[in-house]
Amino acid sequence: MTATLTLVENRTEPTLARTSLTDALAAEDHAEDTGWLDPLDRLTCRTHRRWIHECGHSDLHVIPVTGHRWCRPCRRALEIAVDEVTRTVTLHCPRCDRGAATRADHQLIAACEASLTAARATRTTPPAVAMAA
Ligand SMILES: [Zn+2]
Ligand SMILES: [Zn+2]
Repeated sequence: MTATLTLVENRTEPTLARTSLTDALAAEDHAEDTGWLDPLDRLTCRTHRRWIHECGHSDLHVIPVTGHRWCRPCRRALEIAVDEVTRTVTLHCPRCDRGAATRADHQLIAACEASLTAARATRTTPPAVAMAA
């Protein structure tokens, strides 16, 4: 439920990027505690206090019970790759070579891609750097 997020648009003040993450965390903590938000639909991480795409690689995000970042046939954690440029997230099992297949896989990818977009919307656009040829 992304409607609970209030994101501040401001591209000039660098400190606002952190404020916006803090705001998003507070909003999602509240939404989860009051029963409006499934913990696995969150765009922010309650444990790491970061955007979910920034810590989805942590072992704490492997949940065999629900099948999140978990390959059931192989009984091992899926690898997660986050592409910040294309804002896409992919899962891969290093043993059976499968990609996203289950509902849990797609739920995780959807949350990470939404958090990529939310983080981008609140982040200060870096100044253009002149590249030497
Ligand atoms: Zn986390
Ligand atoms: Zn597998």
